[in-house]
Amino acid sequence: MQTLDIASLGFPRIGRQRELKFALEKYWRGEIDQAQLQSVASELRQTHWQWQQAAGVKLLPVGDFAFYDQVLTLSATIDAIPERHRSGEQVDLDTLFRVARGRAPTGEACRAAQMKKYFNTNYHYIVPELRTGQRFEIVYEQLFDEVAEAKSLGHQPKPVLLGPLSYLYLAKCEGEPFDKLSLLHNLLEAYQAILARFADQGVTWVQLDEPILALELDDDWLAAFAPAYAELGGQGVKLLLASYYGSVAHHHGVIKELEVDGLHLDLVSDAQQLKQFAASLKPAQVLSLGVINGRNVWAADLDILAERLRGVVADLGERVWLAPSCSLLHVPVDLESETELAPELANQLSFAKQKLDELAALRTLLLTPQSEAAQAIVMRCEARRKAREQAANPEVQARLKGLTPADFTRGSGFGERRRKQQARFRLPLLPTTTIGSFPQTPAIRGLRSRWRKGELTEQAYVAQLEAVTRDSISRQLKLGIDVLVHGEAERNDMVEYFGEQLDGVGFTQFAWVQSYGSRCVKPPLIYGDVSRRQPMTLSWACFAQSLTDRPVKGMLTGPVTILHWSFAREDIGREQIANQLALAIRDEVADLQAAGIGIIQIDEPAFREGLPLKASEWQHYLDWAVAAFKLSAAGAEDETQIHTHMCYSEFNATIDAIAAMDADVITIETSRSHMELLNAFEDFEYPNEIGPGVYDIHSPNLPTVEEMVALIEKAATKIPVGQLWVNPDCGLKTRTWDEVEPALANMVKATKELRRRL
Ligand code: GLN
Ligand code: ZN
Repeated sequence: MQTLDIASLGFPRIGRQRELKFALEKYWRGEIDQAQLQSVASELRQTHWQWQQAAGVKLLPVGDFAFYDQVLTLSATIDAIPERHRSGEQVDLDTLFRVARGRAPTGEACRAAQMKKYFNTNYHYIVPELRTGQRFEIVYEQLFDEVAEAKSLGHQPKPVLLGPLSYLYLAKCEGEPFDKLSLLHNLLEAYQAILARFADQGVTWVQLDEPILALELDDDWLAAFAPAYAELGGQGVKLLLASYYGSVAHHHGVIKELEVDGLHLDLVSDAQQLKQFAASLKPAQVLSLGVINGRNVWAADLDILAERLRGVVADLGERVWLAPSCSLLHVPVDLESETELAPELANQLSFAKQKLDELAALRTLLLTPQSEAAQAIVMRCEARRKAREQAANPEVQARLKGLTPADFTRGSGFGERRRKQQARFRLPLLPTTTIGSFPQTPAIRGLRSRWRKGELTEQAYVAQLEAVTRDSISRQLKLGIDVLVHGEAERNDMVEYFGEQLDGVGFTQFAWVQSYGSRCVKPPLIYGDVSRRQPMTLSWACFAQSLTDRPVKGMLTGPVTILHWSFAREDIGREQIANQLALAIRDEVADLQAAGIGIIQIDEPAFREGLPLKASEWQHYLDWAVAAFKLSAAGAEDETQIHTHMCYSEFNATIDAIAAMDADVITIETSRSHMELLNAFEDFEYPNEIGPGVYDIHSPNLPTVEEMVALIEKAATKIPVGQLWVNPDCGLKTRTWDEVEPALANMVKATKELRRRL
């Protein structure tokens, strides 16, 4: 009978109960020693291999485990470690932690290596720092030790490494910029040495990940692939070249010629590419079909999938592997841990462990479609689809269908709105404000956890948070801030707070995914049509406003950010989900406005994160994302001032879209760039008001009056001063009042100084 292999590109390392996170943090605090940390790690690897093996995976991934980040492990393996973090020749586990966490060998603080978002995921990698003429040499044994470990357990290990071109692409030049490709030759020698070591260990297959293939690459990068992979052949192991996070069809011409033994394609992001790659597959090559979504938590329509794949499986036979679209790193570990989910929702879900079972089920459908097992799988798929249809909320859908262009536009243009808002608020030149949150003290977090456990009544909880809010308002009044915030004490997280109050959005207990190092996030699940049951922020906004005559901003999270920071359903488009969320926020805007809240901020810190990997697809995304934001805001009267906030932000390529959002005021993070980020707004002649952040809230250092005066003056050379606001870079929830009060006092002082001068 025909066989069909199941492949795994990588499994989450963090552990079903976040064991790795807790062990790491204990180790960093000195509560356990390295041997104890190693033993937790080794147990996790064993468990994960066992699970994968039980699901039918024969070649077990090695190298998907990392103590901090797999890119960092690779850097250590080849001795690409910044001088400032190393002590002498030796690279060990502590060296890795110093690079990631910013310590010198002496233990003193020392600039950490940069951390960056990994392609379009919410995972962050440690950016390698490379010098001109850098040599690479194997100096760190973790990968080989893990191969040996897998072998000793009787497994067939398949090492997984970031490929040389993607590694170089993600690296940054230390010192003067240079052509990173000039290092390729040296790097390939190191890869050859690694592959040869694996071969000596009895490894048969190695997976090299080249996610940059999903990007639109410059010619020199693209041209480097064929010679590079030709050099990597012949080391005694077979090579599987894996791409994911997007279609690679645009590079088909190059990829099909590569001298590799197998290709892995992400067929979730683009199912169409299968045809062309299957047709051009070389006779001895394997094709790994990434058909189960490694980026999302929903159970797949396996029956439909099986029908789609039947032809290619018949054509290619044993040369086909069934696989997740990418490493399962981006999904939670095990659905079995969730004991409190409504069964209707649980039935729709599949986490890492279940995804491997789905591959086994898919194999059953393909190999023995008539079997009872296959029939049962089909029935489950049908039942799931039916349940989804029945859960639809016709009201929400009708409301979406009924939207007209007018729903997406404010009543008047910005000029007219501004006039009315100025008459209403009579704010001084350079109005001061903050971004929303104030310190989330242990006391506040304690209140919340006691309330959640039922140890504190709702009434007592609200009363205590009111006291906190009263305190933040009085502090702001004393500081002399012009536009106040209530402080967000009632919010644990800016997305979760809203998600919990929306229908169609669900929460799990343990569905954590790694964001970086020991940091994990537990995204909400947008599983159905979204609607607002009742006002979500109104009582807090009104309470805060009742304490003062100065305006207090209503504080909302925008639809695009809620969408990006959730696991969203896939049976309808993201654009539609964004609009459903926007309608819920729009209703909140209407309620706030009716209650007399005159200024409402709709945060969109994740706006840019949604940009597709390929620049040619940006405009489409920006169109619908801007529309969703506008839909959430456009119910506001002319006299109601809409703010938005975005952190960081590289605005050059997206400034048109930012302007199209048409927020009356945008606050952004600019202090660390010394206002350079404002250039995009300057060149564009951005018409609305802007609050460029004047101090870095990530640093515990106290910003001085002089520094902030200089930054505001610099901002005023780029943007007419009448358009400028003064505020910190971002929310202040991670800081203490001891840091916040003097910083804001200096900020207000700096502003007053400039009001006198300007
Ligand atoms: N209003 C939010 C806060 O201040 C914004 C947070 C963010 O930009 N990530 O915390
Ligand atoms: Zn921010």
